[in-house]
Amino acid sequence: MLKGYTYRLHPTPAQAEFLVRTIGCARFIYNKLLEDRIAIREEAKAGNGTRRKPATPASYKPLFPFLAEADSLALANAKLNLDAAFAKFFAGTGGFPVFKSKRRSRASYTTNNQHGTIRIEDGKVRLPKIGFVKFTQHRPFEGIIKSATVSMTRTGKFFISILVNQDEEKWIPVKSKVGIDLGLEHFAIMTNDEMVSEKIDNPRLLRKSEEKTKKAQRALSRKMTGSRNREKARLILAKRHEKIANQRKDFLHKLSRRIVDENQVIVVETLKSKHMMQNHKLAKSIGDVSWYEFVRQLEYKSNFYGRTLIKADPWYASTQICSSCGEKGQKKAMDVREWTCACGAHHDRDINASINLLRLAN
Ligand SMILES: [Zn+2]
Repeated sequence: MLKGYTYRLHPTPAQAEFLVRTIGCARFIYNKLLEDRIAIREEAKAGNGTRRKPATPASYKPLFPFLAEADSLALANAKLNLDAAFAKFFAGTGGFPVFKSKRRSRASYTTNNQHGTIRIEDGKVRLPKIGFVKFTQHRPFEGIIKSATVSMTRTGKFFISILVNQDEEKWIPVKSKVGIDLGLEHFAIMTNDEMVSEKIDNPRLLRKSEEKTKKAQRALSRKMTGSRNREKARLILAKRHEKIANQRKDFLHKLSRRIVDENQVIVVETLKSKHMMQNHKLAKSIGDVSWYEFVRQLEYKSNFYGRTLIKADPWYASTQICSSCGEKGQKKAMDVREWTCACGAHHDRDINASINLLRLAN
């Protein structure tokens, strides 16, 4: 099922200029192609020889070099729009296509997502050839972005309409409940109401990338300031960082989506990172494991799929309480991975915590 979401775009002046130019190029190519189609019809009427093939956007690029700067998908979509207009005309459901005017026609262009060329990150939407543009996403969505149409109003405001492919089985209610403890050794430790526990590892891929990044960092620091090689090394490092960020996002999206798919009630511990950040060694890993982003995703996905997300009180002693007898024991140092309660129950520190969180679901 395709669904559209429209948001206000807030481009920088340079980005706005580029958007206006792309809209202009899309209109230009639409008109050129229409001109060509009309010429073909005239030639056919004159009756000399076979019909030639209609032109494509590529036919005009050598003649009009400015077209090369524009998003080529915007041009391809202009052609598709014209094809659709002709199809309507031939089917008898529309008039003969008309030329687009700068003043009268809707100022817009459409582009497509090709493996993440359109994506949303940190309050910005990435568009091909232009990069990340600020926008107001008042309503988050789930699904795969198919295409985006950028439009401009007469007053110079920009909007983006994002077409999203959403699967339809999303509102199915499920019965399971889950408690999720967030960890350092493992990213998350979960126990569901059938008392099945699962430890989710931090992605290995990420760790590998991080090692490579450290290498790139060292390579950069060895290069002379202002040198060409330094610029090269800087670029390599930036690309590494981007790759890690994408891998991390991907990991978090898949995991949060799975949890929301499988559970009706989700209890997650509230982040203690502020308190933990005081410990410097931990701080790096906490930043890395992206708990904050994970909880944010769980929250909006729960909203979207009709699940209940419970955030445990930050002072809830999920680690200290014995999940067997309910007795609250003493604080446990970070390195205590297992412990035995006075009642005799032996606990894995994190699984015990996730069971205590699960209790809050009832
Ligand atoms: Zn106990």
